[in-house]
Amino acid sequence: MSVSAETKMQFLYALRSKGVTDTKVLTAMERVDRAVFVKGIFAERAYEDMPLPISCGQTISQPSIVGIMTQALKVSPRDKVLEIGTGSGYQAAILSHLARRVYTVDRYRRLVTQAQAIFTAQDITNITTFTADGSYGFAEQAPFDKILLTAAAEDPPGPLLQQLRVGGIMVLPVGQSDTVQSLIRVTRLETGFDYEELRPVRFVPLLEGLGAD
Ligand code: SAH
Repeated sequence: MSVSAETKMQFLYALRSKGVTDTKVLTAMERVDRAVFVKGIFAERAYEDMPLPISCGQTISQPSIVGIMTQALKVSPRDKVLEIGTGSGYQAAILSHLARRVYTVDRYRRLVTQAQAIFTAQDITNITTFTADGSYGFAEQAPFDKILLTAAAEDPPGPLLQQLRVGGIMVLPVGQSDTVQSLIRVTRLETGFDYEELRPVRFVPLLEGLGAD
């Protein structure tokens, strides 16, 4: 079932009112139907600005936070982007409309398989999915222009900082507990890293190793 024009308009209005103002990001979000990434009874709530449950006890993030993170990443059309935390695949699908290529990794094979099936069905061909502990990044494809984490780390993982190109940007939630986390933007300079704190957020934690399914 396709989404009504009115539902989409309200969705875009809600995004704008919560600070997603970048036209390219809004256009990418307009192109991606969030309902296909949400299963069963929750699909009808796909156009509400709230996180929703997906398989493996994980969540698809709140759309306005997806927009704010995507905007903070300043993606340009030639970028090679790495996303840690594929989840439903929704965030990766949005990135795929803004970047040249997207690599996305999750520690649950089942989530990766489901997301890959959606990308194929949606004719999205510039996303590479893989199952691994994303804290180690993807050395074979490094350096990346942009890196996005959608699970909260205590600190930016060292391998990911190393795999960021000079001039590149990494956006991630950091924090030691489930309740107090900040979204930060790290920019790699010739001589080190610049850190900016963007806003409070709440994400599932970045966990070690592979998931059970
Ligand atoms: N970006 C997703 C939402 C992700 S929820 C979306 O658009 O739907 C966070 C995800 O991070 C979960 O799926 C979880 O399994 C994954 N995750 C947590 N720790 C990880 C790690 N070390 N490596 C890879 N994925 C991880």
